[in-house]
Formats: sequence, C-alpha cells, structure tokens
Amino acid sequence: MDDAGIRGAVDIAIVGAGAAGLSLAHRLTASPGPAGRPVSLVLVEPPTGSPVRSPARTWCFWGDECDEFESLVTARWDRLRITAGDGRRVCFTSRRAYRMIRSADFLPGVEGVLARRPGVMRVEATVDQVRDAPGGAEITGHDAAGRPVRLHARWAFDSRPPSELPPARTTLLQHFKGWFVTVRADRFEPGVADLMDFRTPQPAQGLSFAYVLPFTPREALVEYTEFSAAPLTGSAYDAALEDYVQRVLRPAGHVVTAVEQGIIPMTDGRFPRSAGESVFRIGVAGGAARPSTGYAFAAIQRQSAAIAASWHEGRTPRPPALHAARHRLMDAVMLRALATGRAGGAAFFEALFRRNPPERVLRFLDGTSTLRDEWAIGLGTPVPAMLRSLLELPLLPRRKATACP
Ligand SMILES: Cc1cc2nc3c(=O)[nH]c(=O)nc-3n(C[C@H](O)[C@H](O)[C@H](O)COP(=O)(O)OP(=O)(O)OC[C@H]3O[C@@H](n4cnc5c(N)ncnc54)[C@H](O)[C@@H]3O)c2cc1C
Repeated sequence: MDDAGIRGAVDIAIVGAGAAGLSLAHRLTASPGPAGRPVSLVLVEPPTGSPVRSPARTWCFWGDECDEFESLVTARWDRLRITAGDGRRVCFTSRRAYRMIRSADFLPGVEGVLARRPGVMRVEATVDQVRDAPGGAEITGHDAAGRPVRLHARWAFDSRPPSELPPARTTLLQHFKGWFVTVRADRFEPGVADLMDFRTPQPAQGLSFAYVLPFTPREALVEYTEFSAAPLTGSAYDAALEDYVQRVLRPAGHVVTAVEQGIIPMTDGRFPRSAGESVFRIGVAGGAARPSTGYAFAAIQRQSAAIAASWHEGRTPRPPALHAARHRLMDAVMLRALATGRAGGAAFFEALFRRNPPERVLRFLDGTSTLRDEWAIGLGTPVPAMLRSLLELPLLPRRKATACP
C-alpha cells in the first residue's frame, strides 16, 4: 500500500479501516475484479491520534463466517457458561469454539496482507462527507495538517460509526467496560468462558451481567455490561467491576493491565444500507449489530462476502440485509419486553439457556436458527409478556432515538 494522494477515480473507496472496512477490502482484493484486472481500492482512515479513530477492542464469535481470519485468533473457549443471580449454572460445549480476535492483531495483520496486493492505496484523512457525484461517489475530508482531501470512486463504502441512531420503537444500549486483569494466584479456568454471569447488582431498568474470558489461570478479561437506556460514568463501571471482582471472583490480589470500553446500539430502528446510488454503509453503521445481542463481527463477515461476490460478478455491490425479517421481529419483541420491564431482564436470559438446548440458542443468536428452533424458543419465553409486546408493536411510532452510540 502507498500513501500517495489519489488523482483519478478508483473502483472502490472504503471509509474507515476497522472491522468492516478491512474485512471488505480483504475480500474485494482477494481475486481480480470483473474485468480480470485487480481492483483499484482506496482505504481512508483518520490519522494516528485522531479523536474519531476507533479505540482498540476485542471481537468474539462462534460461527463459521470468520474462518478466513482464523490465524489471527488469540484465544478460544470450548465451554460456555451462563450463571444465574443465585449462582445456578448452565454449562455447555459450543459446536465451534468461542473465539477472540484482538483489533491490535487484526488491523496490522490485514493491512499487512493488503499492502502486498496490487491496486490498494491507503489515505490518512478524516472524512467529513461521502456522497453521490457524477460517475460514482465523492469523499471529502481533511488530512492531519487540515488540508482538504477529495477522492472519487465508482463505489464508496462508509463505515464511520453513526452519529445518531435511526428512529425506532425501542432503543437500548449495550454499554460496558472491561478490565484485563492479572491475579496473584490461579483463579480462572482457561477454556471456559462466562458469557453472562448475573451475580451483579441489577439496575432498576434493563439488566446487567459480568462477562469473563480467561486467557490463563491468572489472566482474564472481566467485563461489566448493561443493557439499558443510557451509559454509566467511567467511575460507575469501575465500581461495578471492583464489586464483581472482590465479591464473586475473590482473587488473592489483582492488577488491571488494560481496559476496553464500548457502546453498541440495540435498536429495532432500520439502519439505511445506502446513502446514495453509489454510496453504501457497512459495519455497525449499516446495521450489522444484532439488535438482541450487539454481536456484529460475524455479520460483518457475511456482509463483506456478499458485497465482494456481487462486485466480482459485475453486479451492483449493494450490502445485503444481514438479519432475517423474522429474527428482526423476534428481536423487536424482546427489546420491547425488556425496555418495558415486562420480561425480567436477567431471568429472561437465564430461562432462555435453561429451557433450550444451548446450541439452539446459539443458532438463534447467530441468525442461523430454523423456524422450528424459533418456535421452541418463543414457547420458552414469558409468553403473555412477549405476546403483549408483539401485539403493540404495530401501534408504536418509530421515534427519533435520544440515546447516542
Ligand atoms: C469495545 C467493543 C467490543 C466489541 N466486541 C464485540 C465482540 O466481541 N463480538 C462482536 O461480534 N461484536 C463486538 N463489538 C461490536 C462490533 O463488532 C464492533 O463495534 C466492530 O468494531 C464494528 O466494526 P465497524 O467496522 O462497523 O466499526 P469500527 O471497527 O469502529 O470501524 C470504523 C472505522 O471508521 C474509522 N473512522 C471513524 N470516523 C472516521 C472519519 N471521520 N473518517 C474516516 N474514518 C473514520 C475508525 O477509525 C474505524 O477504523 C464490539 C464493539 C466494541 C465497541
């Protein structure tokens, strides 16, 4: 890859070199384009130190979609666990291990591959606007010195995080902070991931849980997560994490070596997948996050594969809908039941895993469940609460969200 400025139009411009931008660039450049020549592609990422650059993070998943990046996986867990507020547990083995990729490995790893592929250019600029222009799309922004940058491409894919959420009947946020901790004596079970441990104080609205991913008997990522209407302050996350570590994990002593923090929208609003004839939105900005869980990395891989296939076949590379209509409906009902307090948050998820074979729940969360799976899952939920939420959905207006990602 070179950092030279772009004069003529390229085939494709990708704004944002995060999970979606790099995954798409990787797939588009894996083989020649429709005319048999390498794609000309420009990847635009803000300069190092820019406040709009996405902070480092970890991505976990259990499906097959991410196999392309298997060599970048840093940790895996074969056993998964859900723990109820009273300490009762559901433990199960996932068909495919739950795996983690760190952005600190993914970004240089994929950029390194792209650097060796012909036709790929990288531009450091903060993009202000991506819009249709004669013959394709125009991307405008500025470089680190404040000089204007203007690029032209036949197609543009924009992964800048959304500045506001789409109008929705229900908008919740999945907000969390994680500590990478090292403890003084063996405390963790490597190979066993705690997906949801509800032994956290439950908020007045929504729900909270801890998420524990051990790397060694003495090292783990411990996160405090809430599904609720608004994020907490930094010190409130730290207090919740300290409480969980001291009260539940009870290590002989611990140090925090790094942190990760984030907010993922959980909304039944529709993220527009296009912003013009030649401008498409990808990643979380294009609706990749599953409304009921916030998981997005696997969906981003499905999205990238579908866009690249369309482009390689000479069709319009429009991003596909990532979540089936019936899954979106089930998620909308669940979000409504949680937001109104009709479904007791923690109890709802505990029952989901207790009353169903966990593989069925994982298939549902992954978007690969069958109608039969979904019927069984539906019957295992608090039916009156879900039915009432379902029946009122058509009457609810989609309002502008006040919550911000
Ligand atoms: C802390 C955290 C942990 C998560 N963990 C998981 C997980 O375990 N599993 C899972 O499935 N999902 C997870 N997610 C959800 C989702 O997978 C991630 O948010 C993922 O990074 C989304 O990819 P993206 O490409 O849409 O956004 P990003 O990866 O954030 O990429 C957006 C890119 O746009 C760039 N950018 C921003 N503004 C501009 C601008 N003005 N001009 C140019 N470029 C710009 C950014 O620097 C960044 O490179 C997590 C999210 C967070 C925040």
